[in-house]
Amino acid sequence: MAKVALVSGSVIDGVGLESIRGGVLLIEDGRIVRVARRVPRGYMKVDVRDCTVLPGLIDAHVHLCLGGEVNFETALLRDPPELIALRAAARAQELLRAGYTTVRDMGAPARAVIALRDAVAAGLLPGPRILAPGRVVTATGGHADFAPEGVVHRWGLGLVADGPDGVRRAVRAEIKAGADFIKFCATGGVLDPQSEPGLQEFSEEEMGVLISEAHRMGRKVAAHAQGEGGIKAAIRAGVDTIEHGIFLDEAAAEMMRERGVYLVPTLSASHNLLREEGKGLPPHVLRKAREVREAHLEGFSLALRMGVPIVAGTDSGIPFCPHGDNALELALMVKQGMSPLEAIKAATSRAAATLGLDDVGSLEPGNIADVAVVRGDPLDDIGVLRDRARIALVLQEGKPVAGSERERWPE
Ligand SMILES: [Zn+2]
Repeated sequence: MAKVALVSGSVIDGVGLESIRGGVLLIEDGRIVRVARRVPRGYMKVDVRDCTVLPGLIDAHVHLCLGGEVNFETALLRDPPELIALRAAARAQELLRAGYTTVRDMGAPARAVIALRDAVAAGLLPGPRILAPGRVVTATGGHADFAPEGVVHRWGLGLVADGPDGVRRAVRAEIKAGADFIKFCATGGVLDPQSEPGLQEFSEEEMGVLISEAHRMGRKVAAHAQGEGGIKAAIRAGVDTIEHGIFLDEAAAEMMRERGVYLVPTLSASHNLLREEGKGLPPHVLRKAREVREAHLEGFSLALRMGVPIVAGTDSGIPFCPHGDNALELALMVKQGMSPLEAIKAATSRAAATLGLDDVGSLEPGNIADVAVVRGDPLDDIGVLRDRARIALVLQEGKPVAGSERERWPE
């Protein structure tokens, strides 16, 4: 494969304290060589001087089984996993076109997204690298228990489990099915009909067994956690990431900072749910979305102030939250006071660390050449990352997979 030099307006490498003006990104055999000042001999030059070159973006919280439809429950409970997987495949392409080269899925029925992950990894279908948990482990009547009372669903997003033995079996079942990590519901949430976001669901004992079983098997654990009691219980039980973290208080933030537990706030979720005043949402969803909105923003600001490590994740797939506008999350974080460079790190190097990936998320020598090239400077205006027309190039392992300039890439 050709040695290529991307001559940029500036390079944001994902780890540095500032961008590198006029940086030249050198790529060889699908890997980053280094950021140079000029084009060395033997390299093919690609001129993107009106662009910023940055690591391929990472979204740490997506639901590929959903496409932003209001009637998400019907889509989840009616469609067979085979159809869900095919729909997810189309959505994966949208993410790639938006500059996202890695995503962490946060739960899907059966093995729908695990199968898609494997198909993408095998080169059968275009899409970002996917990490998937399989189903979401949830208590009976918990946030991800969508089956109506008395109905046993053949498939569903949630895997219902109770008691230490039940949660241990659930973790083992998802690992057997191919889970990269385990996701469970520590508290209630907004989208289901029966739970309350503020209330803890699994007991701390159950969480402890679930997390230690997953860790023993080499899997990280993500907790859907919104109420402060459930957040703290999950942290004490050893969780790796807190998803949403809506009612985070100072004590919880302190625990997270001390233990290095990441927060994936998903500001896009409550922002998008209330777009157009939540038209068409079931009344219980609308009520809960309104109840959590302010607390969500306050929790984020507190975490930012207290130095909790924050990672970008959108919850894309949920109502009014389509795949492809994932950089909205960066814009919302900046609006709440995070610097544009920090927001980019939250969606690149810090996200990669959260996912346990050590060779993506930055443009450091030797890393996989997953790269996004956008017209303009996201440090001046973070919004340029949301504009599809500005995506000039998306590289995956050094190969062009999307962007308006992809035809210019040398063979
Ligand atoms: Zn979610």
